[in-house]
Amino acid sequence: MNIFKGQNLLEFSDRFKSGQDCKEYLANIKWKDTDECRKCVHKKSQIRKDFSRTCNICSHQESATSNTLFHKVKFGIRKAFFIVFEMSTSTKSLSASYVQYVSGLPKRQLVCLCLKLEKLWKVAVIIL
Ligand SMILES: [Zn+2]
Repeated sequence: MNIFKGQNLLEFSDRFKSGQDCKEYLANIKWKDTDECRKCVHKKSQIRKDFSRTCNICSHQESATSNTLFHKVKFGIRKAFFIVFEMSTSTKSLSASYVQYVSGLPKRQLVCLCLKLEKLWKVAVIIL
């Protein structure tokens, strides 16, 4: 993952001060190449305050996090961003207990995100 490449923790903290900052960042990436509605393929939509989009034709709503790594993360997108930042910028592998320690989250809440990351990075390795 190159999304945090070249950033240090201070820059990261300044850039992502709130969940809204994370959602805005994610929405800009997610809809960078296409504005199409997933249901009806219409290209016009309303952008909401939380950066979700509502299709002008079928009213389908899609959040910035849906169909992404951060979909249904239960502990807040900012913490999830921080965990991904830690994992993607660390030069050594991180233990689950270290991630638990820095995030303040119980292990069971980290499992889903860690499984998604593991799957994602395995795919990236295969592509390379
Ligand atoms: Zn639609």
